[in-house]
Amino acid sequence: MLYTNGMTGERNEKVDDGTDRPARRAIGLGLQGKCPACGSGRLFRSFLKPADRCPSCGEALDGHQADDFPAYIVILLLGHILVPTMIEVNHLFDIPLLWQSILWPVLTILLAVALIQPVKGAVIAFQWARRMHGFAPG
Ligand SMILES: [Zn+2]
Repeated sequence: MLYTNGMTGERNEKVDDGTDRPARRAIGLGLQGKCPACGSGRLFRSFLKPADRCPSCGEALDGHQADDFPAYIVILLLGHILVPTMIEVNHLFDIPLLWQSILWPVLTILLAVALIQPVKGAVIAFQWARRMHGFAPG
């Protein structure tokens, strides 16, 4: 990849490994729990524990710093899904409060468990695509 030096105007080869990392493709693969580099190896070795290296292509996957960000995204998504659903269900049906006190927490837990791994995979894949944190060259 060529770049132009802003000070001297020289055109030089960019010092990097030269491979493009399209974020959209990487995020899609991360959502599926697949390696963002090759798309065939598994990103996770257990439910929320990412593999240190891709078992298929050997790409280092331990450079992420996802931290609590996937949980924040899941909370944001669930708030936007569940609150309107609760309002609409209460508007349409007359469900006793006891049943609602069981229904909504159970639905919240099921959706949170279903979403957390794909969201964490997407966050790791985005960091990989943008060469953030431990994915930075050098
Ligand atoms: Zn791979």
